[in-house]
This record gives sequence, C-alpha cells and structure tokens, in this order.
Amino acid sequence: MHDFEFAAPQTEAEAVALLAPERGRAEVLAGGTDLVPLLEKMVVAPSRVVSIAGIASLKMIRRDDERGELVLGAGVTLDELLKSDSLADYPAIRHAIEGINSPQLQAQGTLGGEICRRPMCWYYRSGHGLLADRGREVAAGDNRYHAILGNGGAAKFVHASRIAPALVALGASLRIIGPGPDEEKYVPAGDFFRTPRSDGDRENVLMPGELVSHIILPAVESATNATYEVRQSAGPDMPLAAAAASLEMLGPMVKSARVVLGQVAPVPWPSPEAAAAILGRPVDESTAEAAGAAAVSRATLLSGNAYKVQLAKTAVKRAILLAAGQDPGGF
Ligand SMILES: Cc1cc2nc3c(=O)[nH]c(=O)nc-3n(C[C@H](O)[C@H](O)[C@H](O)COP(=O)(O)OP(=O)(O)OC[C@H]3O[C@@H](n4cnc5c(N)ncnc54)[C@H](O)[C@@H]3O)c2cc1C
Repeated sequence: MHDFEFAAPQTEAEAVALLAPERGRAEVLAGGTDLVPLLEKMVVAPSRVVSIAGIASLKMIRRDDERGELVLGAGVTLDELLKSDSLADYPAIRHAIEGINSPQLQAQGTLGGEICRRPMCWYYRSGHGLLADRGREVAAGDNRYHAILGNGGAAKFVHASRIAPALVALGASLRIIGPGPDEEKYVPAGDFFRTPRSDGDRENVLMPGELVSHIILPAVESATNATYEVRQSAGPDMPLAAAAASLEMLGPMVKSARVVLGQVAPVPWPSPEAAAAILGRPVDESTAEAAGAAAVSRATLLSGNAYKVQLAKTAVKRAILLAAGQDPGGF
C-alpha cells in the first residue's frame, strides 16, 4: 500500500474542502469494503483518503411527505436500509441488496459506496488499468464475465453496482456536492453512470472534488418494481446478469415501463426496446418473454460470453413478472 494522508471530516463542507482537486488526488472512503482491497493492491494510489463515515447528514433516511420522496444518505449502510422499512415501495432496491447475501458486506458497505464501486473486471483489479489497450486484450482474452451490450469501445467491463439498475428504473436522482464549498447539483441516476472513454475517467460523472451525498427516490404509485438477478450461487458472488423493472399499470395493462439491465454493459443499460414490448399490453409469460428477447436484440458478443444473452433475456422476463406481482419461477 502507498502512503497516504487520512482525513475524517465531520461535515459535508469539510469533506468537500478535503477532496478539493488542488489539494492532491483524493479518494472517498465510505465502508471501505471495495476501496481498501484496491488500496492494498495499489490499483488506486491516492495521496489522501477522506473518510465520510463521521458525517451525520449522510446517514439519514428521510421521507419528504410533501413531495412523497424518500431521501437516503449515501453513508447509510445496506443493512440499515433493509432494516428501516423504508423500501416498502421500492422492492427493486431491496431485491438487489438481498442478492449480496453477505452479513459482513451489508453491515459495512454503504449505499453510496455500492453505486460508486469500481469494476470487478479482473484485468482492472490486477493492475492493468481500466482501458488503455485492455479493450483489445479483453476481446481476445478471458471475457466470460464481460459486456454483451455497449462493448464497442475500449470499455468491455460490466458496471459493478447491483443497485444502480433499480435506481435508473425508478427514476431516482443523486445529490452531488463539491468541488466548490457550497456547490450542489441534482443528477438523474440515468445520467450519472457513463462509459469511461479514457483511463482517467470514472464509471460515473463525478469530477475530482465531488461526492454523492444523497439518493432521492421519487414517489411511486404502487410497488410495481423489482430486480431479478441470475446468480451462480447464493453467496456474495456478482450476478451473471440482472434486470430491474418499474411498471405503471392501468388496470391489467402496462401504462408505462422502465427496464434496465445490470451486469451486461459498462453502465446500467436501459432497454427502451424491452419497455416498448410490454407497453399497452398485459404482463404475462409471453409479453415478458418478448420483452426479454427485445432487450438482447442488439447484443454484440465477445469470444466467451455468448451464454450471457440467454441469462439477460431471462433476467428481464423475470424482473417484469416479479414487478407485476407474478411468480417469475426460478427461485
Ligand atoms: C469479497 C467481496 C465481495 C463483494 N461482493 C459484492 C457483491 O456481491 N455485490 C456488491 O454489490 N458488492 C460486493 N462487494 C463490494 C462492496 O462490498 C459493496 O459494493 C459495498 O456496498 C461498497 O460500499 P462501501 O461503503 O464499502 O464502499 P467503499 O469501499 O468505501 O467505496 C467504494 C468506491 O466508491 C467510492 N465512494 C464511496 N462512497 C462515495 C460517495 N458517497 N461519493 C462518491 N464516491 C464514493 C469510493 O471512493 C470507492 O471508489 C464485495 C466486496 C468484497 C470485498
């Protein structure tokens, strides 16, 4: 591990000041379950680590009754979130957290850390960089867990967050603070995640000196949303494919839908094709199946990941059935 300065601010303003780009390369530390292993392996080597664990405002879970929104601090742990009962209307998020299925990670890991965690790509984790010439190397190498969508450029990894597809499907937004002392902005989750184009880029739009302070979930009319993950085992291994679906129903018909795939592209992958396949129709086996097929219709395969197409199709079908309150099978 490289030497670094450690800072433990108590307020958002102090954290932003400590992260200021002119003060050297800094990393945010939340629960540390993802960052610490990366520091140990020197995959990331900041000159300063800024722990946000002591900032009370980032630990809140608050319902804004006037707007019907649920405001979640980025520093809330995944376990605190599950135990809070605040996710009653947002099963899509609950399903994603439960999928981690690790008491240790859920007790220590935070919401902000989960959505900002770095890719699990083994080329990246073994110190070869996220992009550089990796695009070509990954295409020719062991790419069985890599992307089947959005993989045309140098980025072949899949986005690591399990919760992100649900946030995009639910139309969540993120409050971002910094780099200036009083600067804040609200970014839709759908615009927050992005495919890095060069090695210095992140998998999101955060610039040096910025951090996510809160996640805002809009009111939903009913809890017709869900995440379905296709997993190899019940442990904390990453899913092989996943999908989140959020539906608005008019009687038995789908009035509006958002379907977002996970673990198949360098970003959570919205599928307007899947949504269109169920729009104005009832949800049943055959419409959900058609949505699954539409979601992977533009898949571009690498040498070793063709199997993910069927898994992604199934994830979409089952997420839609689950969101509509139907038995998706497969448990
Ligand atoms: C063995 C193992 C297995 C794992 N399996 C899974 C799994 O199956 N599913 C899963 O989802 N995760 C898994 N993880 C990863 C991780 O534990 C969780 O994603 C966790 O929620 C990360 O949260 P954290 O608070 O510990 O993040 P940290 O490690 O503190 O931070 C993660 C990243 O996010 C950045 N960051 C943190 N908070 C913010 C913020 N508020 N604003 C901006 N940037 C921020 C950090 O700088 C860092 O780059 C695993 C980790 C390990 C070690």
